[in-house]
Amino acid sequence: GINPLNVCAIDVVAAIDARVLPLGRGLDDGLFEHDGQITKREVRALTLSALAPRRGELLWDIGAGSGSIGIEWMLCDPAMKAIAIEGSTERAERIKRNAARFGVPGLVVVQGAAPAALAGLPRPDAVFIGGGGSEEGVMATVIAALASSGRLVANAVTTQMEALLLEHHARLGGSLIRIDIARASPVGAMTGWRPAMPVTQWSWVK
Ligand code: SAH
Repeated sequence: GINPLNVCAIDVVAAIDARVLPLGRGLDDGLFEHDGQITKREVRALTLSALAPRRGELLWDIGAGSGSIGIEWMLCDPAMKAIAIEGSTERAERIKRNAARFGVPGLVVVQGAAPAALAGLPRPDAVFIGGGGSEEGVMATVIAALASSGRLVANAVTTQMEALLLEHHARLGGSLIRIDIARASPVGAMTGWRPAMPVTQWSWVK
């Protein structure tokens, strides 16, 4: 439709409670259709910051889940390009619905498991690994495929994936952060902090 306010993805305005889509990164989780496997808002905002999108660049979003990272990358600018790689057929279909809902039909969805599903894809300027990173050959394939000066950002919630990221950080450098989020929520009549699982994030420039 017509977008008189020049707000991204006017379709969302109609589709989601007539709310205007904010221009900042780290959109409300509730704006995405998801099954619980979604990079939560605060972590997503930090992830997009680390991915450091530049106009017209191509992102690989590996283990794309709901597609939230690739979608927010696409929303940065109409010239952005992204490929969402997702092993589950159900989630791959969900990514397509989310892309349509957010008005970014240009997001390419590849249903298949990394690393095999990465073969033959165009060279990325940035890669996000949100799932599948501990599969044999995924990290090495991504590092080899990444454009020179490209960024790699990988998030770990399991100790196995974290161990892999610690090893890569020790060998290749880059930056390592740990994201601990807690949300205030009811504890009886009172309020208390409910911690989310900590996320270890490794960012590296090739
Ligand atoms: N960043 C996503 C959440 C990722 S959850 C979001 O914001 O929605 C991790 C996802 O990785 C799951 O959907 C899982 O199906 C997928 N996955 C796991 N191993 C994979 C692999 N080898 N290749 C592709 N996807 C994989």
